[in-house]
Amino acid sequence: MVKECFADIVIMHGNVITVNSSDDLAEAVAISENKIICVGSNEAVKDYIGEKTQVIDAAGKTVMPGFIDAHIHFIMYGMLGTTTINVDYNHVDSIKDIQNLIREKAKEKKPGEWIVLSGYDHNKLAERRHPTIEDFDEAAPDNPVQCIRCCAHMAVYNSAAFKALGGIKPEDYAPGEVVVVADGKLTGLMKETAHMSCSEKVAFSEADLLAGLKTANEKMLAYGVTTVHDAGSYGAPVMRMFQEAEARKLIDVRVVPMIFDMFGKESGKQYIETFLKTGLFTGMGDEHFKLGPIKIMTDGSTSGPSCATREPYSHDPELKGLQVWQQDETDEMVSRVHRAGFQMTAHAVGDKAVEMMISAYEKALAECPRDNHRHRIEHCALTDEKLIERIQKLGIVPISNPAFISINGGDYNRFYEERVNYMFPLKSYVEKGIKTAIGSDATVTDPNPMFSIYGAVTRKDMKKQELCGENQKVSVEEIIRMFTYNGAYVTGEEELKGSLEVGKLADIILLSEDILKTDPENYMDVTVEMTMVDGKIVYTK
Ligand SMILES: [Zn+2]
Repeated sequence: MVKECFADIVIMHGNVITVNSSDDLAEAVAISENKIICVGSNEAVKDYIGEKTQVIDAAGKTVMPGFIDAHIHFIMYGMLGTTTINVDYNHVDSIKDIQNLIREKAKEKKPGEWIVLSGYDHNKLAERRHPTIEDFDEAAPDNPVQCIRCCAHMAVYNSAAFKALGGIKPEDYAPGEVVVVADGKLTGLMKETAHMSCSEKVAFSEADLLAGLKTANEKMLAYGVTTVHDAGSYGAPVMRMFQEAEARKLIDVRVVPMIFDMFGKESGKQYIETFLKTGLFTGMGDEHFKLGPIKIMTDGSTSGPSCATREPYSHDPELKGLQVWQQDETDEMVSRVHRAGFQMTAHAVGDKAVEMMISAYEKALAECPRDNHRHRIEHCALTDEKLIERIQKLGIVPISNPAFISINGGDYNRFYEERVNYMFPLKSYVEKGIKTAIGSDATVTDPNPMFSIYGAVTRKDMKKQELCGENQKVSVEEIIRMFTYNGAYVTGEEELKGSLEVGKLADIILLSEDILKTDPENYMDVTVEMTMVDGKIVYTK
């Protein structure tokens, strides 16, 4: 049989994970322009091979849809290691290491220029404490320093930074946000709004932002990520830069930006108000740039630990975390956003914050029912059986971060004890038919999808080899579906991408082996050999 059209590219002899509705495996895929035109056996695609067709031999390795990272701070990740210094646990062991990096950077900078570092976790530093104002004054007396914790909810500043910020008065912020010692002296550590509102003054240039975007694009393609849901960062300048970069084809990765700025609650609210006034709503844009949900930040983080919990933390009966948004104001915001036709989401980590968001959605949907709202909850880390049932009933999409289990599982066992059995409860979601999507939350973790796959399949802390909520293990096929199809579902694009089916966008990756046969302990050795976006090969190893 002679076909009317030949394929531009044919991938054969692969183990193709299609992620279609019956989870079929196949051998080959044919692509014409930016779409998939055939998925099936090697025999089936042969008819599509013409003189000009590029034939790729996948040699028994996995071929699958590109990953959709449903929660990543994309531009911040791109700037990490270029504009900002990476001080995560892979790069530093101690405060001394951080000081040395600052000293080196200070030599390149003029006095008064900011030095920004990101990613430290005091629980993982040799000194097991936060750095202090004195540590950083000694390392850089003439340059303002901001050193952001891995959760991005707090940072340590030095004296030059406080001077550049025009001085900080602890009484201007909620108690505990500006951390002081007994005599009222600043320790340098600032949390939540105090830290976030100061971040606004640590300005980056357009050139910094664009360079960050390009770097992030390259890194994501090398990890096989073809769509990102940007979880927000520096507000309007970044929103503009995303559009420009997509329109000028400076980046290949598809972007769905959440409407959120990280400069604190009041700034975030104002940012949302400007969007509500425009009459636009979620979905505006095209396959490359699409306006995402409106996001609020309701509590702290799992690792701080600073998330809002209903019961005190297990390691400290005095602590219940920080709740930034209260029920009434959340109800009002969710109702307005919902009525305006926007998709809503919230950073809600602790079970108290999660419960607050579920209640707000319940009220908004009772007032004004809407099918396919696909309202989300970012992280949705601590849950229980009842909360999961309410999520199912309302059709809420939780965005889970199983990479956190790989990295912090041991700490979680200490902080939350038996609550880890309902932490990022992927198995419960599968059983209840809840379509959770997966986010790396980079810069909080490295966005290599293998961290998430390892955490989801093994439920193990990679370094400590400690199990964490073993009952929530899922299969590799299940986590792949969450990381592809479900990521498309949450933005209402499941007919367009997220699985390898005829008519869908050709966002396809080739792995270095057949991941269905890989021993879970070796997932970190799996790499991406080829990434295709829109039918174009944009990365090869
Ligand atoms: Zn985040």
